[in-house]
Amino acid sequence: MGRITLENVRKAFGDVEVIPGVDLTIEDGEFAVFVGPSGCGKSTLLRLIAGLEDVTSGRILIDGQDVTAAPPARRRLAMVFQSYALYPHMSVRKNIAFPLKMAKMPEAEQQRRVAKAARILNLDSYLDRRPGQLSGGQRQRVAIGRAIVREPEAFLFDEPLSNLDAALRVNMRVEISQLHNNLKTTMVYVTHDQVEAMTMADKIVVLRAGRVEQVGSPLALYNKPANKFVAGFIGSPN
Ligand code: ADP
Ligand code: MG
Repeated sequence: MGRITLENVRKAFGDVEVIPGVDLTIEDGEFAVFVGPSGCGKSTLLRLIAGLEDVTSGRILIDGQDVTAAPPARRRLAMVFQSYALYPHMSVRKNIAFPLKMAKMPEAEQQRRVAKAARILNLDSYLDRRPGQLSGGQRQRVAIGRAIVREPEAFLFDEPLSNLDAALRVNMRVEISQLHNNLKTTMVYVTHDQVEAMTMADKIVVLRAGRVEQVGSPLALYNKPANKFVAGFIGSPN
């Protein structure tokens, strides 16, 4: 279960109101994409959901439970960072197991979960390598593996493909969509790339200056953009 609800969520940094107020529900199992121009508040909104930032006001619920004041570890969400966040001196196995080790999970259960994640991500034969001995795509899969082993209610991705080259980005897009089909876990995916949004999302959330301009399926947004901004951003002809 991974239903995420934001109720009038506001965020200010000092005097600067970055998120003036967002109401939004992401259904259990949905692939939601936050899209919008650089600086519009996508990362901030994701970090508020993750608990890495505190809301200025409003509420965040996960499966109906108020987690507004809960620390990140209590939210059962896993944030996927870009692949450069891997530990270069640790093996793939240790990188993937790292959050479980931090949580002091018994070794046998750690290894069971690492093996399962490696199978899902096709990393079985790379577990004893170090990140430096992997391709960019494999490194990104290790970063995803580190999230999978936590068996979260939802995955939060912040532009996970932005430092990969164009060809690899296309492959990883497909891989992440397949992962979503396999796991059927809620995913919230931040990007400024319209093509990623249109090809991956069940639901697109278009943000502009910290506000939700429109929420809908890729087709609905393309066919019926609410305004010129959405039309321009989605590349709709209307
Ligand atoms: P996006 O991810 O859409 O590019 P961000 O959420 O990173 O946008 O940033 C939204 C706005 O909030 C930007 O103007 C940014 O400068 C500001 N901002 C983000 N984090 C902080 C912070 N910790 N302190 C002050 N301002 C911040
Ligand atoms: Mg960002």
